[in-house]
Amino acid sequence: MHMPLLTAHNLHKTYRLKRTSVPVLRGVDLDIQPAECVTILGKSGSGKSTLLHLLAGLDAPDKSPKARITFDDKPLSSMRTGALDRYRNRSVGMVFQFYHLLPELNVLENAMLPAMMGANRLTLIRRLPELRERAADLLDRFGLSHRLRHRSNELSGGERQRVAIARALVNQPRLLLADEPTGNLDAVTGNAILDTLMELRREQQLTMVIVTHDAAMSARADRTLRITDGVIQAA
Ligand code: ADP
Ligand code: MG
Repeated sequence: MHMPLLTAHNLHKTYRLKRTSVPVLRGVDLDIQPAECVTILGKSGSGKSTLLHLLAGLDAPDKSPKARITFDDKPLSSMRTGALDRYRNRSVGMVFQFYHLLPELNVLENAMLPAMMGANRLTLIRRLPELRERAADLLDRFGLSHRLRHRSNELSGGERQRVAIARALVNQPRLLLADEPTGNLDAVTGNAILDTLMELRREQQLTMVIVTHDAAMSARADRTLRITDGVIQAA
């Protein structure tokens, strides 16, 4: 048995509004093995996006001595700012439910962006051709080579979704966290995207946690989990 790549234990998350508090996660536990493909199902509002944001290190669980997220056996809570930034930017690729592309940049620039963060100018100038090639290659694999110079606000929802996936993969992360990545795609395109992700898993041991409503996608995963009442169970 491998050491899990990602673990979460005892995660609670409550959103506190002015008068009320909304408990969303109530003790989530999960272990993800290297190169595993796991899908997460759950009703709208069940906390799927919340959980992915915690796993990506973009938000923190409720404070508790028992709450713990580890990547490669290292607790995120023990990482200093720089290490946590590297975790978010290099180790994890995040596909947001609502894409979060930058409208004023074109498709290629959007996909290159995570690779440009944190690099100093000289390194960047030297590496630019290689980065451009890597981003263009990924966009090509997701069927977007004819759209490289289009601004992202000129794209359809399904095209934006694919740019967001390419962007999440540009730093060759070990872990892809994808929030309903095929929600705006027809079945054929959705299936082709999963084919490409499975190829990347073979090529670079990509580990995937995918939130989805898509039964066909779930059927191809190694394992399917379900969030109900704030906890995770095997589906
Ligand atoms: P899902 O992705 O499964 O649809 P979410 O994780 O987006 O669910 O949201 C879970 C619940 O938490 C919902 O009831 C939502 O309204 C609430 N919620 C999400 N984000 C916030 C926030 N920033 N502040 C307050 N409530 C939130
Ligand atoms: Mg969501």
